Amino acid sequence: MAVKNNCLFCGKSFLPKTATSKYCSRVCISSMPSSYELPELKPEEWGYIAGFIDADGCIYKRVSYTYKQKNIYHFRISFTHTCLETLVWLCEKLKTGNIYERKGDLKNFSKKKQYHLDIGRHVFVYKILERIIPLLREKKSRAEDVVSFMKENNILPINLRGE
Ligand SMILES: [Zn+2]
Repeated sequence: MAVKNNCLFCGKSFLPKTATSKYCSRVCISSMPSSYELPELKPEEWGYIAGFIDADGCIYKRVSYTYKQKNIYHFRISFTHTCLETLVWLCEKLKTGNIYERKGDLKNFSKKKQYHLDIGRHVFVYKILERIIPLLREKKSRAEDVVSFMKENNILPINLRGE
């Protein structure tokens, strides 16, 4: 008798091609993030990060339609800042993120160089926002919206979804 597996991403039970298949489809394979555990930081470090996101961060959500009848979602936390050291500190603390030098236009030639930090993997964005929501002020409702949107739209692996 064939034994069914439960897909690690969507939770659906499926007939595996091999005994060790963990995902029901290619879409689920590509949706599954590499694992990310929130780093253990001091409360004041989380407070600083939340304050930085409140003041200088951008919490970004976009839905683009559609690939094979599936919506494609984009989530991001990003910062633009002139102090590279601060962005490097954030990346090191959060153990994720990419920093780019922002190409200025010629008119702004004399201005200070700007850097851009992006945190773009869905589970990372979700876990960071969930952790700092109680600490946010200005962007609290924005963060709450994004987190509940992610829970309700099957964007997260099954073990992180709401009831
Ligand atoms: Zn699946």
